[in-house]
Amino acid sequence: MQSQIRKLHDKYHAELAKIKNLKELEALRVQYLSKKNGEITNLITQIPKLSIKAKKSIVPQLIALKKEVEETLANKKTELNSKKSQAYRDLTIPLPKAHSGHLHPTTQIIREMNGFFRYHGFSIGEGPEIEEVEYNFRRLNLPEGHPATDLQDSLYIHEPDILLRTQTSSIETRILSNNQPPLRIVAPGKCYRNETNSSTNASFFYQYQGFVVDKEVNIQHLKYMITKWFQFLWGEDVKIRFRYKYYPEVSPGLGQDIQCTFCKGKGCQICKYRGWIEMGGSGMIHYNTLKTCGINPEIYTGFAFGVGLDRMVMTKFGITDIRKLYGGQIVYK
Ligand SMILES: [Zn+2]
Repeated sequence: MQSQIRKLHDKYHAELAKIKNLKELEALRVQYLSKKNGEITNLITQIPKLSIKAKKSIVPQLIALKKEVEETLANKKTELNSKKSQAYRDLTIPLPKAHSGHLHPTTQIIREMNGFFRYHGFSIGEGPEIEEVEYNFRRLNLPEGHPATDLQDSLYIHEPDILLRTQTSSIETRILSNNQPPLRIVAPGKCYRNETNSSTNASFFYQYQGFVVDKEVNIQHLKYMITKWFQFLWGEDVKIRFRYKYYPEVSPGLGQDIQCTFCKGKGCQICKYRGWIEMGGSGMIHYNTLKTCGINPEIYTGFAFGVGLDRMVMTKFGITDIRKLYGGQIVYK
């Protein structure tokens, strides 16, 4: 038995020296100390069969061996663990690729355009989404019962005076009512209308509004600003066309189109075979609008413009369904 213990001792140390990782170390522990069939355990189970004299010399040796094995296993484990953590502390190892998010396409366009207008001396304005009829309609040259108010099916919070704003022009009337010219403001914002949701219409949408009020502002300033803005968005060679259009809050009113960037005016599905895509409206702010907002129209003139942002975002990012923009989907296309 004594020689068996010695052989086991030597064999254990030879094997321990070859251990390279924690998995092998655990296998070695099982091989020697497992309660079921460990090589040291097996020797211990033979103790009751020994004579009293033999027990006296063998038992201390076996206990010493078991203790030695346990200690050396523990030491080896600490050594292997420290090697492992050293490897993790290597600062030259490249990090795994991080998946970062990105801004919503609408936010991207808003920030780009805000940057453009700030460069041209504009400030960014904002106003409440729950709005008074006074600012949403009345001060935009739309008196009660005016037929143009029927054009928009509005979502009222409290009839007949509180509603979800149907247009960002309400920001314009608020700012005009509380400030005196010179004013140069752009205001992006959410608007709400009672629309049935489809691929091109939604009850919730974004508009981008802008206006300038100062002495001697004329329609050439308006056309210049819109041309520069569209060139910034679509490139220097964008073709722009202005058409006469009726909007109650401006006079004269203009509708602006860009030549379809997909078919270069030949006609395609996106421009509905017209060759042009409508990009919002504009005009010289109506005499009555300025007057009701408390600005003297005999001294000051101004222009205003507004676009539906969603169509702009869809055209720019090649998105075909407006519902994909605000449906909570991460992939828009
Ligand atoms: Zn086209």
